[in-house]
Amino acid sequence: MPDALTPPSGFDLIVIGSGPGGYVCAIRAAQLGMKVACVEKRATLGGTCLNVGCIPSKALLQSSENIHALQHGFADHGIMVEGIKLDLARMQARKAEVVGANVKGIEFLFKKNKVTWLKGSGKILSPGQVEVDGTVYETKNIVIATGSESTPLPGVDVDESKIVTSTGALELDAVPGHLVVIGGGVIGLELGSVWHRLGAEVTVVEFLDRLIPGTDNEVTKAFERVLTKQGLKFRLSTKVTKAAVGNDGITLTLEPAKGGPAEEIKADIVLLSIGRRAFTEGLGLADVGVAVDGRGRVETDGHFATNVPGIYAIGDVIAGPMLAHKAEDEGVALAERLAGQAGHVNYDVIPGVIYTWPEVATLGQTEEQLKAAGVAYNVGKFPFTANGRARAMGDTDGFVKILADKTTDRLLGAHILGPDAGTLIAELATAMEFGASAEDVARICHAHPTLSEAVKEAALAVDGRALHV
Ligand code: FAD
Ligand code: NAD
Repeated sequence: MPDALTPPSGFDLIVIGSGPGGYVCAIRAAQLGMKVACVEKRATLGGTCLNVGCIPSKALLQSSENIHALQHGFADHGIMVEGIKLDLARMQARKAEVVGANVKGIEFLFKKNKVTWLKGSGKILSPGQVEVDGTVYETKNIVIATGSESTPLPGVDVDESKIVTSTGALELDAVPGHLVVIGGGVIGLELGSVWHRLGAEVTVVEFLDRLIPGTDNEVTKAFERVLTKQGLKFRLSTKVTKAAVGNDGITLTLEPAKGGPAEEIKADIVLLSIGRRAFTEGLGLADVGVAVDGRGRVETDGHFATNVPGIYAIGDVIAGPMLAHKAEDEGVALAERLAGQAGHVNYDVIPGVIYTWPEVATLGQTEEQLKAAGVAYNVGKFPFTANGRARAMGDTDGFVKILADKTTDRLLGAHILGPDAGTLIAELATAMEFGASAEDVARICHAHPTLSEAVKEAALAVDGRALHV
């Protein structure tokens, strides 16, 4: 039973979870004059993203990219380096330092904005009450921002040592001889790339007949070719039915996705990355009557309100892409709505980036989606092989692809495989947000020589008038 009650004044807002959704919502609400608390059970703030997601994975991607360039890219520039050694312990320590600086940064921002961190597990007792490890706090509004967790697979028991989720895969203290990745999605390809660059043989087992489902087919196919050229191995249309840990590694049983004869392969480490699912354990949702959908996600209306007045939800725990920037934007929009403003999120313009090298960046609709919706469109494409800066960098894999409405020329989608694609897509996100046409982008003066000229050329190509191909 709860043993204490906060003063009647209580809080205007209690946010449960301090990931990018929760901490941003808390800060924005405090900026708007609310008295805010954020409940976090982890020892540090920042949620999945800062602790075991975006930030540590990008630190390892950068480190592994550096060593890979040193080993395979520098000789071409006439830079001969001998005796390159990997100090994995130092690489992991650096990653921990990067994470540490980021999570401490959120603590500083909470203090600066006078957001109270309630340390412990939050449970909703009623629309106006949250219990945190035995203490009950009164509040006008509650935001559920409890994020997501790795989806389990029957027959593959995660121990975070031999059979790992992304969390364990970020912590390995030795490069595996053979890493088998189950799931050819974002996590599998990012972390598969990390360990491959550090020396592991990597096999990705994917249930579907393609990688990263939902991404423009042409981009996916080209991406698969590039990763194959880099040395990653793919077993598409294949499922894993069992993983048995023995003294000599892990034995995985594979079957064709559609059924058929089983085979066994050996692995030193198995990474299970078949998706993530909403996390609501211990929140007391059923007792308070908060509705969840068939996939366990908290149901919300278009304005983040659940079916229970005074209780809202944002981020990975609700429907939509599981992305940090989507969660952040929802946090801002909700805080502004609670303050009587008109915050909203444009779900049509949310970029998605895979931070491999080359990177994949996607925005808006794919060609397949436009076809299915019967929308007439034009395609403009420009390869990085024809971009001067990409040639100078020695990074010519990939292309920019722009989809625009056939009649109005309005931008409908943009898909980039190439160097720094994640940065390049920002220009197109700005353009789409402003309702720009491909012609608008094509008329903008882009600095030479930059990778962004490939974006301009793809926009020109929509009208069949690219200049450099
Ligand atoms: P989370 O970040 O999951 O935070 C939820 C927090 O709530 C957690 O800290 C949890 O401890 C806390 N919590 C849960 N229940 C309770 C409770 N009852 N009481 C108190 N606290 C509670 N996205 C990107 O956009 N870019 C990337 O590069 C990227 N890389 C990723 C790499 C990996 C390996 C992973 C796993 C994910 C990555 N993501 C990335 C996805 C991104 O991390 C999530 O979309 C994002 O963290 C969701 O934010 P959130 O605030 O909804 O939840
Ligand atoms: P995902 O949804 O990206 O990919 C999962 C893959 O596993 C899919 O290709 C799916 O077809 C496959 N799969 C499903 N069941 C399978 C099975 N039984 N056997 C083999 N393959 C199977 O999921 P993820 O890679 O685990 O990532 C989870 C979430 O985290 C994603 O939604 C992503 O948005 C987010 N994330 C984002 C980033 C980023 O933005 N750079 C990085 C990491 C994670």
